[in-house]
Amino acid sequence: QPLVITIDGPAGAGKSTLGALLAERLGYLYFDTGVMYRALTLVALQAGLDLTQPEPLEALAQQVLIEVVPPTQSDGRQYTVLTDGQDVTWAIRSPEVERGVSLVARYPAVRRELIRQQQQIGLRGHVVLVGRDAGTVVMPDAPLKIYLEASLDERARRRTQERSGDEAQPLEDVRSAIARRDSLDAHVLRPAPDAVILQNDGLTPEDEVAWIMDYIAR
Ligand code: C5P
Repeated sequence: QPLVITIDGPAGAGKSTLGALLAERLGYLYFDTGVMYRALTLVALQAGLDLTQPEPLEALAQQVLIEVVPPTQSDGRQYTVLTDGQDVTWAIRSPEVERGVSLVARYPAVRRELIRQQQQIGLRGHVVLVGRDAGTVVMPDAPLKIYLEASLDERARRRTQERSGDEAQPLEDVRSAIARRDSLDAHVLRPAPDAVILQNDGLTPEDEVAWIMDYIAR
């Protein structure tokens, strides 16, 4: 059985839902690498940094302490995210962070630092690592790598359903925000040569977990 599983794919492909479910099923740690890029972006915005200037962002990536710990509140969160001890679990999901994160994630020195931290977590084993380059760059030796794909329409629909109530956005806006992120993330978005590609339009997360557990047992 694999001790490290990576799940990559574009925004809204269902990586975190599948990752969390799979980790629970296997008794593994679930770690979403996107959280680190989001947390860094939030801290940069709070500090008033210009996201088009790489040097201050690189320095910040080395200074700020980003921690993902078990939930400290029962408000629907799967984990708590701390930056220098501050709870930013919900703040990293804001539209401002969502707009800026892919710019921050494009700087090689920023990536180098966050990847180094992600590898420390991955190397402990018993972990499901979710992201864009988890299988290609962070943990290229992971014995099971999954690359999730879904159509843009399906991904936009899922995102719209996730954010109901006050945060609801029109489907068209969600769709274009995802398409924008797809193109900004294209530089890292590719399956590892040995990844299992799972096109999940019309599949439920339970279907996917069953498929993967079956695949592991084979
Ligand atoms: O997965 P999530 O949507 O939270 O990721 C937010 C952003 O962080 C992505 O759009 C991408 O720009 C960046 N990211 C990345 N590499 C990862 C994970 C996330 O570049 N491994």
